[in-house]
Amino acid sequence: MDAAVAEDLVEAVRRFVQREVLPVADELEHADTYPAELVGKMRDLGLFGCTIPEEHGGLGMDVTTYARVVEELAAGWMSLTGVLNTHMMAATLIRLHGTPEQAGRWLPRMAAGDLRGALSLSEPDAGSDTRALRCRAEPDGDTFVITGTKMWVTNGERAGIVALAARTPEGVTCFMVEKEPGPRSGGITVSRAIGKLGYKGVETVEMSYDGHRVPASAVLGGPTGLGRGLPQILAALELGRVNIAARACGVARAAFEAAIRYAQQRHTFGVPISSHQAIQFKLADMATKVEAARLLTASAAAKLDAGERADVEAGMAKLFASETALEVATEAMRIHGGYGYTTELPVERYYRDAPLMIIGEGTNEIQRLVIARGLLRRYET
Ligand SMILES: Cc1cc2nc3c(=O)[nH]c(=O)nc-3n(C[C@H](O)[C@H](O)[C@H](O)COP(=O)(O)OP(=O)(O)OC[C@H]3O[C@@H](n4cnc5c(N)ncnc54)[C@H](O)[C@@H]3O)c2cc1C
Repeated sequence: MDAAVAEDLVEAVRRFVQREVLPVADELEHADTYPAELVGKMRDLGLFGCTIPEEHGGLGMDVTTYARVVEELAAGWMSLTGVLNTHMMAATLIRLHGTPEQAGRWLPRMAAGDLRGALSLSEPDAGSDTRALRCRAEPDGDTFVITGTKMWVTNGERAGIVALAARTPEGVTCFMVEKEPGPRSGGITVSRAIGKLGYKGVETVEMSYDGHRVPASAVLGGPTGLGRGLPQILAALELGRVNIAARACGVARAAFEAAIRYAQQRHTFGVPISSHQAIQFKLADMATKVEAARLLTASAAAKLDAGERADVEAGMAKLFASETALEVATEAMRIHGGYGYTTELPVERYYRDAPLMIIGEGTNEIQRLVIARGLLRRYET
């Protein structure tokens, strides 16, 4: 993407966050309200087409720019990045692995934000351990009948298309399941809305498939996609991990900025607390880690932009940035003293949002396994 165009886009998102998001984020978060108006504005900005190629009506954004956009949104309100992330991953799956017919059918509507996407890999008893997936899709003529329960489906209710991992005789297959947005569609039911510590306003739901029938054309990539679901989804997770890393950078940056501003305003013992060396050391460590996290994220994004596998780099960025967000949000709260523990300032939101990043798109324990395996492959003797 042209550098000037990328800069304009990031600047437009920054303005949107300043003018539209920050004034309402805390209120929407505390009321756990879906931000319909903000999502409408994100759609007007073209953000549902971020990484979708221009030939399909998207912005054709490179991953580097996408990461910057996600950081800006997350610095305002992390939940907004949740509305985008699994949508972009579903679109990425179609772009990377779909047939030309599938790309032409779904991507233009997804780019316009008329068709919203979700990604549904996890189950109640299968998160890190994808071998334990139980949801199955039985072939029946030129259709498949899907039965099972899926857990943690972000955007599951409002989505019109779900990238779903289900077992077929060939192994795990990725189906692009079209549905009506809402609590029920055919044999699909939103069986539970999951209450969360943070990341409110965006829905995360349990979904039951009770003999839901889909056409064979829903198999991602056509007949050759049968049994290829896990490698397809794992490749798309590299983009997801850069997204989580970028989100973590946004939350960490917001927490740091809140802390450094507060430290200059709050006085104890006759001086601003920013004059105390103990606070200065905290601020120095926080800013250093935020900068390091951003550089790791940019480096992983650049690798994906170069068309290379980035399992190690995306894993490192996700691991470091998410641990940084957790640490910086905690330190920001400490710097705010008692006020940091109230719902009157956004620092408590950063503290509740940050832990999601150590879990989502593969926990940090799994991230370390992914990084180590990649390194061992690279240094094989
Ligand atoms: C708010 C939210 C939104 C989500 N959105 C989605 C979504 O849209 N789509 C989707 O498919 N999923 C989604 N997820 C699911 C998420 O990806 C899983 O929660 C995550 O992969 C962890 O799986 P689990 O919760 O089953 O934990 P488990 O796999 O049960 O892990 C429990 C603990 O054991 C550790 N552990 C597990 N295996 C190992 C191992 N081999 N070595 C060392 N430690 C290990 C883990 O690191 C963790 O600490 C979401 C989760 C949350 C909380």
